[in-house]
Amino acid sequence: RHRAESTLPWIAYTDRLEQQTRARIDLTRELRTALQDNQFELHFQPKLDLASGYLVSAEALLRWNHPERGLISPGVFIPIAEQSQLIGPIGEWAIRRACEHLRAWQDEGLDLVRVAVNVSLVQFRTGHFPDSVRRILEESGTAPEQLSLEITESVFAQESASLLRQMRELRDMNVRLSLDDFGTGYSSLLYLQQYPFDEIKIDQGFVTHLMSDRFSRNIVEAVKMLAHALDAEIMAEGIESDSVRRELLMMGIHFGQGFYYSYPLEAEDFRWLLERGSRLPLTADEID
Ligand code: C2E
Ligand code: MG
Ligand code: MG
Ligand code: MG
Repeated sequence: RHRAESTLPWIAYTDRLEQQTRARIDLTRELRTALQDNQFELHFQPKLDLASGYLVSAEALLRWNHPERGLISPGVFIPIAEQSQLIGPIGEWAIRRACEHLRAWQDEGLDLVRVAVNVSLVQFRTGHFPDSVRRILEESGTAPEQLSLEITESVFAQESASLLRQMRELRDMNVRLSLDDFGTGYSSLLYLQQYPFDEIKIDQGFVTHLMSDRFSRNIVEAVKMLAHALDAEIMAEGIESDSVRRELLMMGIHFGQGFYYSYPLEAEDFRWLLERGSRLPLTADEID
Protein backbone atom coordinates (compact mmCIF):
# COMPACT_ATOMS: atom_id res chain seq x y z
CA ARG A 1 0.00 0.00 0.00
CA HIS A 2 2.83 2.36 0.89
CA ARG A 3 4.57 1.63 -2.38
CA ALA A 4 1.41 2.15 -4.33
CA GLU A 5 1.06 5.53 -2.71
CA SER A 6 4.47 6.74 -3.80
CA THR A 7 4.29 5.38 -7.34
CA LEU A 8 0.62 6.07 -7.99
CA PRO A 9 -0.19 9.21 -6.08
CA TRP A 10 -3.66 9.56 -7.60
CA ILE A 11 -4.74 6.30 -5.95
CA ALA A 12 -3.88 7.70 -2.53
CA TYR A 13 -5.61 10.88 -3.53
CA THR A 14 -8.84 9.10 -4.50
CA ASP A 15 -8.70 7.13 -1.25
CA ARG A 16 -8.40 10.33 0.70
CA LEU A 17 -11.25 11.99 -1.14
CA GLU A 18 -13.39 8.93 -0.50
CA GLN A 19 -12.54 9.06 3.18
CA GLN A 20 -13.36 12.74 3.37
CA THR A 21 -16.66 12.24 1.58
CA ARG A 22 -17.54 9.41 3.94
CA ALA A 23 -16.63 11.47 7.02
CA ARG A 24 -18.84 14.23 5.69
CA ILE A 25 -21.79 11.93 5.12
CA ASP A 26 -21.34 10.51 8.64
CA LEU A 27 -21.28 14.00 10.16
CA THR A 28 -24.36 15.07 8.20
CA ARG A 29 -26.26 12.01 9.41
CA GLU A 30 -25.11 12.57 12.99
CA LEU A 31 -25.91 16.26 12.82
CA ARG A 32 -29.49 15.33 11.96
CA THR A 33 -30.07 13.74 15.37
CA ALA A 34 -27.80 16.06 17.37
CA LEU A 35 -30.54 18.59 18.05
CA GLN A 36 -33.10 16.11 19.39
CA ASP A 37 -30.35 14.35 21.39
CA ASN A 38 -29.43 17.63 23.06
CA GLN A 39 -25.84 17.61 21.88
CA PHE A 40 -25.50 21.36 21.33
CA GLU A 41 -24.53 23.97 23.82
CA LEU A 42 -23.67 27.62 23.72
CA HIS A 43 -20.48 29.13 25.03
CA PHE A 44 -20.29 32.83 25.80
CA GLN A 45 -17.45 35.22 25.13
CA PRO A 46 -17.52 38.62 26.84
CA LYS A 47 -17.58 41.77 24.69
CA LEU A 48 -16.01 44.63 26.61
CA ASP A 49 -15.49 48.29 27.07
CA LEU A 50 -11.73 48.44 26.46
CA ALA A 51 -11.11 51.45 28.67
CA SER A 52 -12.79 50.12 31.82
CA GLY A 53 -12.66 46.36 31.25
CA TYR A 54 -16.38 46.09 32.00
CA LEU A 55 -18.52 43.66 30.12
CA VAL A 56 -21.04 45.22 27.74
CA SER A 57 -22.40 42.13 26.03
CA ALA A 58 -21.64 38.52 25.20
CA GLU A 59 -21.32 36.58 21.99
CA ALA A 60 -22.94 33.15 22.00
CA LEU A 61 -20.90 30.54 20.15
CA LEU A 62 -22.30 27.17 19.24
CA ARG A 63 -20.55 23.94 20.32
CA TRP A 64 -21.38 20.39 19.32
CA ASN A 65 -20.78 17.84 22.03
CA HIS A 66 -20.44 14.70 19.93
CA PRO A 67 -20.88 11.50 21.97
CA GLU A 68 -17.86 9.79 20.37
CA ARG A 69 -15.87 12.53 18.68
CA GLY A 70 -15.95 15.01 21.55
CA LEU A 71 -16.32 18.74 21.10
CA ILE A 72 -16.64 19.73 17.42
CA SER A 73 -16.07 23.35 16.48
CA PRO A 74 -18.59 25.39 14.48
CA GLY A 75 -15.94 25.95 11.81
CA VAL A 76 -16.41 22.24 10.99
CA PHE A 77 -20.13 21.63 11.41
CA ILE A 78 -21.72 24.97 10.44
CA PRO A 79 -20.74 24.54 6.76
CA ILE A 80 -22.21 21.03 6.83
CA ALA A 81 -25.37 22.34 8.47
CA GLU A 82 -25.58 25.06 5.81
CA GLN A 83 -25.41 22.52 2.99
CA SER A 84 -27.94 20.14 4.51
CA GLN A 85 -30.84 22.46 5.46
CA LEU A 86 -30.06 21.72 9.09
CA ILE A 87 -28.87 25.26 9.71
CA GLY A 88 -32.50 26.41 9.92
CA PRO A 89 -33.47 24.48 13.06
CA ILE A 90 -29.94 24.59 14.55
CA GLY A 91 -29.67 28.35 14.02
CA GLU A 92 -33.08 28.90 15.58
CA TRP A 93 -32.11 26.74 18.52
CA ALA A 94 -29.01 28.93 19.08
CA ILE A 95 -31.05 32.15 19.11
CA ARG A 96 -33.68 30.66 21.40
CA ARG A 97 -31.14 29.22 23.82
CA ALA A 98 -29.18 32.48 23.95
CA CYS A 99 -32.38 34.41 24.75
CA GLU A 100 -33.31 31.88 27.44
CA HIS A 101 -29.90 32.18 29.08
CA LEU A 102 -30.07 35.97 28.97
CA ARG A 103 -33.52 35.91 30.47
CA ALA A 104 -32.48 33.55 33.28
CA TRP A 105 -29.46 35.72 34.17
CA GLN A 106 -31.54 38.88 34.14
CA ASP A 107 -34.17 37.23 36.34
CA GLU A 108 -31.40 36.51 38.84
CA GLY A 109 -30.55 40.20 38.83
CA LEU A 110 -27.26 39.74 36.99
CA ASP A 111 -26.14 42.62 34.85
CA LEU A 112 -26.06 41.72 31.17
CA VAL A 113 -27.95 43.92 28.74
CA ARG A 114 -27.51 42.05 25.50
CA VAL A 115 -26.52 38.83 23.83
CA ALA A 116 -25.16 38.39 20.30
CA VAL A 117 -25.86 35.36 18.11
CA ASN A 118 -24.28 34.46 14.79
CA VAL A 119 -26.55 33.98 11.82
CA SER A 120 -25.83 32.34 8.50
CA LEU A 121 -27.01 33.68 5.16
CA VAL A 122 -28.80 30.40 4.54
CA GLN A 123 -31.16 31.23 7.40
CA PHE A 124 -32.54 34.10 5.30
CA ARG A 125 -33.40 31.84 2.38
CA THR A 126 -36.97 31.08 3.33
CA GLY A 127 -37.67 34.80 3.39
CA HIS A 128 -39.32 34.49 6.82
CA PHE A 129 -36.34 34.73 9.13
CA PRO A 130 -37.62 37.89 10.90
CA ASP A 131 -40.86 36.04 11.75
CA SER A 132 -39.01 33.25 13.50
CA VAL A 133 -36.88 35.80 15.38
CA ARG A 134 -40.04 37.61 16.48
CA ARG A 135 -41.56 34.37 17.70
CA ILE A 136 -38.42 33.45 19.67
CA LEU A 137 -38.30 36.90 21.27
CA GLU A 138 -41.93 36.66 22.32
CA GLU A 139 -41.69 33.13 23.63
CA SER A 140 -38.54 33.80 25.62
CA GLY A 141 -39.69 37.19 26.89
CA THR A 142 -36.71 39.00 25.40
CA ALA A 143 -36.85 42.61 24.27
CA PRO A 144 -35.64 42.97 20.66
CA GLU A 145 -32.93 45.51 21.58
CA GLN A 146 -31.39 42.86 23.84
CA LEU A 147 -30.59 40.67 20.86
CA SER A 148 -27.83 41.35 18.37
CA LEU A 149 -27.43 39.27 15.22
CA GLU A 150 -23.95 38.89 13.73
CA ILE A 151 -23.77 38.31 10.01
CA THR A 152 -20.53 37.61 8.21
CA GLU A 153 -19.35 40.12 5.66
CA SER A 154 -19.03 37.66 2.76
CA VAL A 155 -22.81 37.74 2.53
CA PHE A 156 -22.81 41.22 1.08
CA ALA A 157 -20.88 40.32 -2.03
CA GLN A 158 -24.09 39.95 -4.02
CA GLU A 159 -27.08 42.16 -4.17
CA SER A 160 -30.15 40.53 -2.67
CA ALA A 161 -33.46 42.29 -2.37
CA SER A 162 -34.82 39.59 -0.07
CA LEU A 163 -31.87 39.82 2.33
CA LEU A 164 -32.11 43.60 2.40
CA ARG A 165 -35.85 43.48 3.09
CA GLN A 166 -35.41 41.01 5.96
CA MET A 167 -32.53 42.95 7.48
CA ARG A 168 -34.61 46.12 7.42
CA GLU A 169 -37.52 44.26 8.96
CA LEU A 170 -35.29 43.06 11.80
CA ARG A 171 -33.95 46.56 12.29
CA ASP A 172 -37.50 47.95 12.37
CA MET A 173 -38.25 45.46 15.13
CA ASN A 174 -35.28 47.00 17.02
CA VAL A 175 -33.07 43.93 16.82
CA ARG A 176 -29.41 44.98 16.60
CA LEU A 177 -27.45 44.05 13.48
CA SER A 178 -23.74 43.44 13.46
CA LEU A 179 -21.45 43.01 10.46
CA ASP A 180 -19.03 40.22 11.40
CA ASP A 181 -15.49 39.47 10.14
CA PHE A 182 -15.25 42.76 8.33
CA GLY A 183 -12.30 42.90 5.94
CA THR A 184 -12.50 39.27 4.83
CA GLY A 185 -15.28 39.56 2.27
CA TYR A 186 -15.77 41.44 -0.94
CA SER A 187 -18.68 43.63 -0.10
CA SER A 188 -19.40 46.57 -2.24
CA LEU A 189 -19.60 49.79 -0.26
CA LEU A 190 -22.58 50.70 -2.36
CA TYR A 191 -24.56 47.68 -1.14
CA LEU A 192 -23.23 47.95 2.35
CA GLN A 193 -24.50 51.43 2.96
CA GLN A 194 -28.08 50.29 2.33
CA TYR A 195 -27.94 47.91 5.26
CA PRO A 196 -28.89 49.16 8.71
CA PHE A 197 -25.90 47.95 10.74
CA ASP A 198 -25.48 49.02 14.35
CA GLU A 199 -22.03 47.50 14.68
CA ILE A 200 -19.07 46.53 12.55
CA LYS A 201 -16.63 43.93 13.79
CA ILE A 202 -13.10 44.19 12.44
CA ASP A 203 -11.91 40.72 11.61
CA GLN A 204 -9.54 39.19 14.12
CA GLY A 205 -6.84 38.70 11.50
CA PHE A 206 -6.22 42.45 11.40
CA VAL A 207 -6.57 43.00 15.14
CA THR A 208 -4.27 40.22 16.30
CA HIS A 209 -1.39 41.56 14.18
CA LEU A 210 -2.01 45.19 14.83
CA MET A 211 1.35 45.75 16.50
CA SER A 212 3.55 43.90 14.03
CA ASP A 213 1.91 44.62 10.70
CA ARG A 214 1.52 48.03 9.18
CA PHE A 215 -1.05 46.85 6.65
CA SER A 216 -3.35 45.53 9.41
CA ARG A 217 -3.05 48.85 11.18
CA ASN A 218 -4.08 50.77 8.11
CA ILE A 219 -7.03 48.46 7.57
CA VAL A 220 -8.21 48.98 11.13
CA GLU A 221 -7.90 52.72 10.58
CA ALA A 222 -9.94 52.44 7.37
CA VAL A 223 -12.65 50.30 8.97
CA LYS A 224 -12.93 52.89 11.70
CA MET A 225 -13.67 55.58 9.13
CA LEU A 226 -16.12 53.34 7.32
CA ALA A 227 -17.97 52.60 10.55
CA HIS A 228 -18.18 56.32 11.13
CA ALA A 229 -19.59 56.84 7.63
CA LEU A 230 -22.17 54.10 8.20
CA ASP A 231 -22.95 55.50 11.64
CA ALA A 232 -22.15 52.16 13.26
CA GLU A 233 -20.27 51.24 16.40
CA ILE A 234 -16.98 49.48 15.93
CA MET A 235 -15.89 46.31 17.68
CA ALA A 236 -12.49 44.64 17.51
CA GLU A 237 -12.35 40.85 17.68
CA GLY A 238 -9.25 38.79 18.39
CA ILE A 239 -7.60 40.93 21.07
CA GLU A 240 -4.90 38.68 22.45
CA SER A 241 -2.66 41.09 24.35
CA ASP A 242 -2.69 44.19 26.48
CA SER A 243 -0.55 46.03 23.93
CA VAL A 244 -3.20 45.52 21.26
CA ARG A 245 -5.89 46.66 23.70
CA ARG A 246 -3.96 49.87 24.39
CA GLU A 247 -3.20 50.48 20.74
CA LEU A 248 -6.89 50.12 19.83
CA LEU A 249 -7.83 52.63 22.51
CA MET A 250 -5.26 55.05 21.14
CA MET A 251 -6.78 54.61 17.70
CA GLY A 252 -10.17 55.51 19.15
CA ILE A 253 -11.69 52.02 19.20
CA HIS A 254 -13.54 51.41 22.44
CA PHE A 255 -15.09 47.97 22.26
CA GLY A 256 -13.66 44.53 21.73
CA GLN A 257 -13.35 40.89 22.65
CA GLY A 258 -10.62 38.27 22.57
CA PHE A 259 -8.57 35.67 24.36
CA TYR A 260 -6.69 38.38 26.29
CA TYR A 261 -9.91 38.98 28.23
CA SER A 262 -11.58 35.62 28.09
CA TYR A 263 -12.06 32.53 26.01
CA PRO A 264 -15.65 31.62 25.20
CA LEU A 265 -16.98 30.15 28.46
CA GLU A 266 -19.54 27.52 29.35
CA ALA A 267 -22.79 29.10 30.52
CA GLU A 268 -22.05 28.23 34.17
CA ASP A 269 -18.63 29.87 34.08
CA PHE A 270 -19.97 32.89 32.27
CA ARG A 271 -22.67 33.22 34.91
CA TRP A 272 -19.97 33.13 37.58
CA LEU A 273 -18.23 35.99 35.77
CA LEU A 274 -21.44 38.03 35.73
CA GLU A 275 -21.99 37.38 39.39
CA ARG A 276 -18.51 38.65 40.27
CA GLY A 277 -19.16 41.77 38.25
CA SER A 278 -15.43 42.43 38.06
CA ARG A 279 -13.38 44.05 35.39
CA LEU A 280 -11.62 41.87 32.88
CA PRO A 281 -9.11 40.39 32.52
CA LEU A 282 -9.25 38.76 35.93
CA THR A 283 -6.02 38.69 37.90
CA ALA A 284 -4.51 35.35 38.93
CA ASP A 285 -5.88 35.49 42.49
CA GLU A 286 -9.36 36.44 41.28
CA ILE A 287 -9.45 33.22 39.27
CA ASP A 288 -8.61 31.02 42.34
P1 C2E B 1 -17.15 34.47 14.62
O1 C2E B 1 -18.56 34.84 14.82
O2 C2E B 1 -16.28 35.43 13.89
O3 C2E B 1 -16.60 34.17 16.08
C1 C2E B 1 -15.30 34.47 16.51
C2 C2E B 1 -14.45 33.23 16.57
O4 C2E B 1 -13.12 33.62 16.99
C3 C2E B 1 -14.90 32.20 17.61
O5 C2E B 1 -14.54 30.92 17.12
C4 C2E B 1 -14.06 32.58 18.83
O6 C2E B 1 -13.87 31.50 19.73
C5 C2E B 1 -12.76 32.98 18.19
N1 C2E B 1 -12.01 33.95 18.99
C6 C2E B 1 -12.46 34.79 19.94
N2 C2E B 1 -11.46 35.54 20.45
C7 C2E B 1 -10.33 35.17 19.80
C8 C2E B 1 -8.95 35.59 19.88
O7 C2E B 1 -8.55 36.45 20.67
N3 C2E B 1 -8.08 34.98 19.03
C9 C2E B 1 -8.47 34.00 18.15
N4 C2E B 1 -7.55 33.45 17.37
N5 C2E B 1 -9.77 33.60 18.04
C10 C2E B 1 -10.68 34.18 18.87
P2 C2E B 1 -15.56 29.71 17.08
O8 C2E B 1 -16.33 29.67 18.36
O9 C2E B 1 -14.80 28.49 16.68
O10 C2E B 1 -16.59 30.10 15.94
C11 C2E B 1 -16.21 30.12 14.59
C12 C2E B 1 -17.30 30.67 13.70
O11 C2E B 1 -18.43 29.78 13.66
C13 C2E B 1 -17.89 31.99 14.20
O12 C2E B 1 -17.03 33.06 13.84
C14 C2E B 1 -19.22 32.01 13.48
O13 C2E B 1 -19.06 32.51 12.18
C15 C2E B 1 -19.60 30.54 13.42
N6 C2E B 1 -20.60 30.24 14.44
C16 C2E B 1 -20.46 30.02 15.78
N7 C2E B 1 -21.64 29.83 16.39
C17 C2E B 1 -22.60 29.95 15.42
C18 C2E B 1 -24.05 29.89 15.41
O14 C2E B 1 -24.73 29.71 16.43
N8 C2E B 1 -24.67 30.06 14.18
C19 C2E B 1 -23.96 30.29 13.04
N9 C2E B 1 -24.64 30.44 11.89
N10 C2E B 1 -22.62 30.38 13.02
C20 C2E B 1 -21.94 30.22 14.19
MG1 MG C 1 -19.52 36.48 15.45
MG1 MG D 1 -16.00 37.30 13.67
MG1 MG E 1 -15.28 34.40 12.02
